[in-house]
Amino acid sequence: MAKINTVLGPIDPESLGLTLAHEHIVAGYPGWECDPLARPYNREKIVNVCLRNLEPVKNYGVNAIIDATPVDLSRDVDVMRNVSEKLQVHIVCSTGRYTENEGKWIYLRQRERNKIGDIKAELYEGFMQELTYGIGQSGIRPGVIKVASGLNCISPCEEATLRAAAQAGKETGAPIMTHTEAGTMGPEQADLLIGEGVIPQKIMIGHMCGNPSLAYQMEVLRRGVYIGFDRFGIEMFVPDQVRIATLIGLLGMGYADRIMMSQDFTACGYGRGGRLPEEEAKKVGLNWSFTNIFRNIIPALKKAGINNDQIKTMTIDNPRRFLSGL
Ligand SMILES: [Zn+2]
Repeated sequence: MAKINTVLGPIDPESLGLTLAHEHIVAGYPGWECDPLARPYNREKIVNVCLRNLEPVKNYGVNAIIDATPVDLSRDVDVMRNVSEKLQVHIVCSTGRYTENEGKWIYLRQRERNKIGDIKAELYEGFMQELTYGIGQSGIRPGVIKVASGLNCISPCEEATLRAAAQAGKETGAPIMTHTEAGTMGPEQADLLIGEGVIPQKIMIGHMCGNPSLAYQMEVLRRGVYIGFDRFGIEMFVPDQVRIATLIGLLGMGYADRIMMSQDFTACGYGRGGRLPEEEAKKVGLNWSFTNIFRNIIPALKKAGINNDQIKTMTIDNPRRFLSGL
């Protein structure tokens, strides 16, 4: 029987339960580690901040979180393990890479330039290493491969990541989740992965709620993949009202079994920290948190006639099927 890898070890798919499909426990944009004024790394404090921000999800019955942090955004499985133990929520972590613009590529590019290694081959070997033997010395195996592309284009390093992920996914059975910039390149990501032989049920095209066009959503869904409505609360890109309207349209057309919900929130960001000025915070959206979908989005869906079965399909069944195939 297929198992789902969590940071505390493999679990039966049936015990996954209510799942947030794309969040971050800890993350930091490349460069924070070079900031002399960044908060010093203190695992105990970081875990406590994470717990404080995550505890409210327990009130809504959340039983699992997919952590979409790729290696180059300072993924930290030791923190995740601590948080999972203390919070008693399953955490599924990722192997994988971020966009060419915002990830860490110099090292692999330099090796390729010097003809020591090929970027795609080295990415593939790295993904296989973590999926097979675990991350570093932790023994923790990722449950998903994270890939990403930038706005309106799939760059060379991003294409290499997608192809390496497809190969590793096929060999290990690991599913692949993506980052799109504002939903762009969704069909292209899906075509590339499927073209490499990944079955559509093992693919989640992420951040699709960034595009309110139903025609565009259906263009991606036609390929048989899952899509992520996974940025509820980030209203500087798209107001939640528009995301809700798009989602209601798709659910009305019978796509509940292809959509997952989440918020792309981060429990603890690395670096200096600091609060956004009030005007900027308003633009991001005042509801952005780990509980926005329970406090605001699901109630709005229900008011529009979406039933409990459809909600359950999106939040329990789809993450389980995506991660385990069962
Ligand atoms: Zn994310």
